[in-house]
Amino acid sequence: MHRFFVSVPLSVGQPVTLVGDQAHQVRRVLRMRPPEHVLLLDGHSGVFEAELVAVKNTGVTFQVVRRQEATGEPATHITLYQAVLKGERFGWALQKGVEVGISAFVPLVCERNIVNDTAAIEGKRPRWEQIIREAAEQCGRSRLPVLQPAQLFKQAVKSPPPVAVTTEGIVPEARGRPASGPLRLIPWEGERQMHLRAALVACNVASAPGIQIFVGPEGGFTAEEIALARHYGIQTVTLGPRILRAETAGVIAAALILYEMGDL
Ligand code: SAH
Repeated sequence: MHRFFVSVPLSVGQPVTLVGDQAHQVRRVLRMRPPEHVLLLDGHSGVFEAELVAVKNTGVTFQVVRRQEATGEPATHITLYQAVLKGERFGWALQKGVEVGISAFVPLVCERNIVNDTAAIEGKRPRWEQIIREAAEQCGRSRLPVLQPAQLFKQAVKSPPPVAVTTEGIVPEARGRPASGPLRLIPWEGERQMHLRAALVACNVASAPGIQIFVGPEGGFTAEEIALARHYGIQTVTLGPRILRAETAGVIAAALILYEMGDL
């Protein structure tokens, strides 16, 4: 059944009218006719079966028939802090990230970002939100992944509050996260020792309320950025001996984490 995320409240027995792109999709692309059924999603795990009752030039109207069980959401909540990339690459990372099961995205501005104009980045938000919504509809997510406001790397690493560190990085008992905070990992091609799986075990991932992954731009993180991340308790990890492109690294890291968590 085709799926559509809608921004209005849904309740059984009520009509809902879709306009714009979604109406075009129903009317022209899918060529749906009454009484075909679709799934309407409210973005917060509400999944409703609905029947098409009217197709007009101004919009298409559905009648909500019943509530369904929400599926398609991983139990592990991953936030990808991804450096903004040039061209279509950031959109690609969003689309694949949604498919694999990432819950939230934060566009990052790092020192070596080619794209670093925050106004231009915010200008891309409507397009990026559309990519996320379409990917979520296509792959069967029942929550709409969130696109948070863009952040400077040096701000993003600061929250949550710092944990104690040694000169190598993290004190053994802190390892990547404060006691009750999310597990925070920074894939870095300069890390030789700490593999992703080892980091998940060492950081007791099962008890973390979520996982944050920080991925750098085309030119990678600077040494100062890695030092700052470590200072704030973020664990550097390797994703293996080959250098992945920036848009690949976050998607791969998320897939490996969800696999390890039994969530794929
Ligand atoms: N400038 C680097 C590559 C940057 S790749 C170079 O050319 O050598 C972009 C981002 O992907 C990096 O900042 C890192 O976060 C991630 N990444 C790519 N390959 C990785 C690997 N093998 N291990 C860990 N992180 C990796």
